[in-house]
Amino acid sequence: MTSTYRHDVLIIGSGAAGLSLALHLPAHLSIAVISKRELSEGNTLYAQGGISAVLDPGDSLESHIQDTLQTGDGLCDRRVVGRVVERGPDSIRWLLDQGVEFTRDDRVPGSRAYHLTREGGHTHRRVIHAADATGREVETNLEGRVRSLTNAELFENHIAVDLVTTRKLGLKGHRCMGAYVLDLAASEVRTFLAPFVILATGGASKVYLYTSNPDVSTGDGIAIAWRAGCRVANMEFMQFHPTCLYHPRAKSFLITEALRGEGGRLLLPDGERFMPRFDERAELAPRDVVARAIDHEMKRLGAECLYLDISHQPADFVRSHFPTVHGRCLELGIDITREPIPVVPAAHYTCGGILVDTNARTDLPGLYAIGETSYTGLHGANRMASNSLLECLVYSELAALDIARLAARQKSPPEVPPWDESRVAEPDEEVVVSHNWDELRRFMWDYVGIVRTNKRLQRAKRRVDLLRREIIEYYSHFRIGNDLLELRNLVEVADLIVQSAQRRRESRGLHYTLDFPRKDPTQRRPTILIPDGYRPHP
Ligand SMILES: Cc1cc2nc3c(=O)[nH]c(=O)nc-3n(C[C@H](O)[C@H](O)[C@H](O)COP(=O)(O)OP(=O)(O)OC[C@H]3O[C@@H](n4cnc5c(N)ncnc54)[C@H](O)[C@@H]3O)c2cc1C
Repeated sequence: MTSTYRHDVLIIGSGAAGLSLALHLPAHLSIAVISKRELSEGNTLYAQGGISAVLDPGDSLESHIQDTLQTGDGLCDRRVVGRVVERGPDSIRWLLDQGVEFTRDDRVPGSRAYHLTREGGHTHRRVIHAADATGREVETNLEGRVRSLTNAELFENHIAVDLVTTRKLGLKGHRCMGAYVLDLAASEVRTFLAPFVILATGGASKVYLYTSNPDVSTGDGIAIAWRAGCRVANMEFMQFHPTCLYHPRAKSFLITEALRGEGGRLLLPDGERFMPRFDERAELAPRDVVARAIDHEMKRLGAECLYLDISHQPADFVRSHFPTVHGRCLELGIDITREPIPVVPAAHYTCGGILVDTNARTDLPGLYAIGETSYTGLHGANRMASNSLLECLVYSELAALDIARLAARQKSPPEVPPWDESRVAEPDEEVVVSHNWDELRRFMWDYVGIVRTNKRLQRAKRRVDLLRREIIEYYSHFRIGNDLLELRNLVEVADLIVQSAQRRRESRGLHYTLDFPRKDPTQRRPTILIPDGYRPHP
């Protein structure tokens, strides 16, 4: 089998960001799309709510901009917010052209208008959606389109290990030339060369014990870019969803906020309702307030989970308003019309990531980052609901335009040596990987989760340093596999989160610390971490 592939563009990741980019690129460019599982698996597939854009005549771009800035708590880049919001309506039209079907508004008989919902932070109805499974509709449509492209080769079950760069090979210049990629079926590392490489690898929420994200969200792109000398920003801002189902067989199932909107009450294990003690809006307080209250009570009681109860509402009402939650819980033996639902907060969205400019370029020439893995300046200290898919769409187009402009001037990279496995052995103790995987996610949850303190962060830093040494040693002695690669990336990302959280000595947006409980106007700037080997653009 070939071990070196050459294309004009190498896209790593096949969520909304990666697939949209493939579709925006000019047809004369050859493209490789690699994905570590099947093409559709990733956060995009599970997105529920929708995509925000100004589509209603009563709404305005300025209002969307202001809502985003407000939610971002002083840290959004105003220029970026304006650019993304302005492109929102066109991005939705582009999706419609791809065949994506959104829910129509059936309140006006005969109307072809789309139904828009309103979510936290938005002052208008501006979230277009496909029932409560928007991500599935978007992902499956884009996947179908990309599969029919004649200029794209698709590589499923291929996981990117690291980038091929001039620096790594000791060559002249400063550029990304491709990536080393492990073919999981053949257990062989292949070399993918391309003058343009795009990281579209999604978020990093798997670094926490509880997450709403699927298994692929291990922050690979962030760790890969960091190792290649790219700056990373705002990693302290991890968004937690307050209520994820707590059940050994239910991985990452969200209990929609609408359940609290319809009277759901949060209870302690002894049945006491606790939210009124934390906020006068009780269960209807904003997401971060509810998540913090649950976290506080769980830590205080040493409880494994708390409960969300809607059983006081008529059973028919519950069944008809929450068919998905009702059905999924029933499969697991929980009848929500009769009993409370065990819940925990869960890591949900990575606001920080690889620092990029307004063309999605990273610090390394030839390397771009788009989607949840990137930091564009849009979200600031807190992401507003449904702005993330919008960011994927807008930045994939901006990156494609930039690549199309530059493509004629770029030559294919020179030959590079293949991946060298001559000095590694078969893994001898897989337990090192599984143990460290569990330990890492557990202490990140306990010490670097929703509520932080200096002491907790110090404890986490000591543990991260130790695990990092162990994992790097293991990596350099044994043949690589999927779990080891993901763990190596997770520990890198954990380190970036802890370092960023330690630098922010205030509470702002999603970063809350008991040692500095207030916002400090002098710290109104992103947290930018600079790696070894970083070279500013000439
Ligand atoms: C439950 C849930 C609900 C959500 N609801 C909404 C919503 O309503 N609206 C909204 O705007 N946002 C929502 N979000 C967030 C949004 O879904 C994501 O931010 C967005 O889909 C990210 O898209 P992406 O293309 O950047 O990454 P993803 O869709 O996560 O895709 C990442 C891709 O990269 C691949 N990959 C990762 N690492 C590697 C590697 N090393 N090698 C090869 N391939 C790799 C993965 O296999 C995958 O194909 C939700 C998220 C979740 C989890």
